[in-house]
Amino acid sequence: MLTLAAIQGFPATAQEKVLNLYSARHYQTDEALYANFTRQTGIKINRIEAKEDELIERIRNEGAKSPADIFITVDAARLAKADEMGLFAPVKSKLLEERIPAHLRSPDWFAFSTRARVIVTNRDLVKAEDIQNYEDLAGPKLKGKVCSRSGSHPYNLSLMSALIAHQGEARAEEWARGVVANFARAPKGGDTDQIKSVAAGECGVAVSNTYYLARMLRSEKPDDRKLMDRISIVWPNQKSFGTHINISGGGMLKSAPNKDSALRFLEYLASDEAQRYFADGNNEWPSVPTVSVRNSALDAMGKFRADTLPVATLAKNAAAAQRIYDRAGWK
Ligand code: FE
Repeated sequence: MLTLAAIQGFPATAQEKVLNLYSARHYQTDEALYANFTRQTGIKINRIEAKEDELIERIRNEGAKSPADIFITVDAARLAKADEMGLFAPVKSKLLEERIPAHLRSPDWFAFSTRARVIVTNRDLVKAEDIQNYEDLAGPKLKGKVCSRSGSHPYNLSLMSALIAHQGEARAEEWARGVVANFARAPKGGDTDQIKSVAAGECGVAVSNTYYLARMLRSEKPDDRKLMDRISIVWPNQKSFGTHINISGGGMLKSAPNKDSALRFLEYLASDEAQRYFADGNNEWPSVPTVSVRNSALDAMGKFRADTLPVATLAKNAAAAQRIYDRAGWK
């Protein structure tokens, strides 16, 4: 939470370096992540945590007087939305360019972890050979077996954006219509609800982000782990463009009052130690390819080939993606 120390005017703190962080992520590893930065740099972090879209609105409403130095959120389309509103400052950093692969950054924001959007199947209801690619979700073999969350959710918009980039709008729309024709029920719930419905046999197949699966695999509730015994996880499109990935990330705000601290923080997030905390907090993978994490659930899912489409492209296609879902009736 943002403290009022600054305006209460303790003279001794006048020179104290601070960083004001607006974050839509909050996990158990955060304390270590932030404490470590303060220990290394002496810069104190004031945090404001809220929902993604609330924070974007807040920064916009605060305008040039916003105390926010850094905005961190999930989903490339959300970062791009903030970018289009002109909220971010361009960041030039040799270190960030070296550490973060080109497809995981834009001139204004950086991905610090990745998650994949995979297919989950009920072992008894769907044969593995029938579902290897996202395209198969629209095939005749899965009639009445597909469950999904809303097409308007950012995760599905980003998946559609990737399909548009790889196959063009016409094929992407044909795919959406095919999937809708295969629905077991009208879209509802989140990714975890889809996983549970697949395990229960209400649906044969669904898509989910990997960290929801990892949470179930690592759950302290035996019932959650038992549900996972009934499902298989498919890495889609391994022989074509690779499995769709999305990101968590952030950038420096144009109005940032503490730009030096903000740059140091972004560079810190790309360090080995911070990458591990950041990824592990939500069962994700580090963006920096030389950093490895040990996560029993992710390790159990195995290795896969990820789509290397620039994540900035996902945002560019988001409007077209929404139009396609609307036309296809994927509510
Ligand atoms: Fe999520």
